[in-house]
Amino acid sequence: MAIRKVLHYGEPSLREVSKEVHKVSKKISDLVRDLLDTMYAQNGVGLAAPQIGENVRVFVIDVATGNEPLNPIVFINPKIIKKSGAVKSNEGCLSFPEAYTDVKRYKNVMIKALNEHGKPFVMEAKDGTLLARAIQHEYDHLDGILFIDHCINRFDAEAVLKKYNLPDLDPELLIEEKELEEELNKND
Ligand code: ZN
Repeated sequence: MAIRKVLHYGEPSLREVSKEVHKVSKKISDLVRDLLDTMYAQNGVGLAAPQIGENVRVFVIDVATGNEPLNPIVFINPKIIKKSGAVKSNEGCLSFPEAYTDVKRYKNVMIKALNEHGKPFVMEAKDGTLLARAIQHEYDHLDGILFIDHCINRFDAEAVLKKYNLPDLDPELLIEEKELEEELNKND
């Protein structure tokens, strides 16, 4: 299919709430292919449809590394149905070139979604693995939430954005995550 342009932080599409998919049509299959092609071209671990300007609830993840065979996972209309624990995660995003910062994430998540054939599946990702963190990161994109909204240190995140000439953090959008914070402090 095609490698698409990844929108950068500041583009309105990244802050929109995306729409449910009603049918896994040819159009959605083509979108899935484009997401995978674009993600692999950029060496990303995940990519969500809003990042290529399509505000529908679809994202892809592949956490295979090095010589491991490709292992694409497609999530359509996903719902996180369980989450627990807390973990500190140093994250970046293809929409924020080069900018990384520490964010709060759940350690364990269970997600249900439809695959590329429209078949429902449930997946569990535990122990703060890359998969567990990527699921939460990509899922957020469908609701217009970005990783910086979960930042552990607002000032660090601001400095990183500034360094890479990205738009400022929006303090109004920072997510209060008392439970995660308390859990992380316990672990320190
Ligand atoms: Zn992202």
